[in-house]
Amino acid sequence: MNIYNCSLQDLENYFIKKNEKKFKARQVFDWLYKKRVTSFEQMTNIKKELIFDLQQDFNMEHLKLIERQSDKDVYKYLFELPDKNTIEAVLMHHNYGYSLCVSSQVGCNMGCSFCESGRLRLVRNLLISEMVLQVLQVEADLNIRISHVVIMGIGEPFDNYDNVMKFIDIINSDLALAIGARHITVSTCGIIPKIKEFMNNNKQINLAISLHAPNDKLRSKLMKINKVYKLADLIDVIKEYINKTNRRVTFEYIMLKDINDSKECALELVDLLKGINCYVNLIPYNETSHLNYRKSTKDTILKFYDILKKNKINVTIRKEFGKNVSAACGQLRANNEEG
Ligand code: SAH
Repeated sequence: MNIYNCSLQDLENYFIKKNEKKFKARQVFDWLYKKRVTSFEQMTNIKKELIFDLQQDFNMEHLKLIERQSDKDVYKYLFELPDKNTIEAVLMHHNYGYSLCVSSQVGCNMGCSFCESGRLRLVRNLLISEMVLQVLQVEADLNIRISHVVIMGIGEPFDNYDNVMKFIDIINSDLALAIGARHITVSTCGIIPKIKEFMNNNKQINLAISLHAPNDKLRSKLMKINKVYKLADLIDVIKEYINKTNRRVTFEYIMLKDINDSKECALELVDLLKGINCYVNLIPYNETSHLNYRKSTKDTILKFYDILKKNKINVTIRKEFGKNVSAACGQLRANNEEG
């Protein structure tokens, strides 16, 4: 098994089973996440016999870097997993630090009509190690420290809930990467039972909801998940989440030309979100050659923004990154798979 799948507690249990002191787990974590060794032999404060055991029981295999594209303030990585599947991670340089967009699955089953990741269907969930290594390897590649992680790459994180939560525990742990919970964001298309589970985790992790439409008719056309979990129920659970956690929720809204960007849509969105402690992130759509959707014009986006603003909805327009780097979700992988 890859050692990056292990929580501190997993390693403590491992050492306890071997009649060893459990603080050895902390030492191993320190080698992995603070000193960033790439082999067990480098763990010089661990005795030889235990190094041998670790080598027998674990591996430290990294992801294979297939391709790296870069543009102003953005680096896009394509990694190959041991079973030859590929995933993407995108690093963005903001004025507040480096933010990494991490993938949580190979492909995706949610089938949103505008999204490139869903075109290739779900192959499998990512292991904890495969998410942790996206962070570690991008940091090593650029010799930087990542301050923010957003789980908004390929996949639906709440469809791989347990691994995603364990991944978050590791990157959040002071003994590992120490990325603050408030600097970690999980984005979901709206799987209600998992949002309920998530609201009980007692961490200050940010929640983002991919909304993309202000009514059921339009949302069901764009996002299959809306046929299962209706908008009214989604909004109800978000209100419950906010009551319980006292945290503000982000709604993501992709601006699709002539689909969801009208004045009427903006007003309907105002009605839907009035009084909810949230902010709306308007996302200029990244066009992809495989899908027919077009991005709204700058002018339309600004008009939409103004309507929300005038009606006292907190709103931002997402900065556009990497127009020259196959920036749409899943695009690099799709292009690679199709040669
Ligand atoms: N499945 C999760 C997280 C991955 S998608 C979710 O749905 O939230 C991350 C965000 O990117 C979602 O809001 C998704 O709708 C959006 N997205 C997908 N394709 C896009 C594109 N071509 N341009 C801009 N945003 C896109």
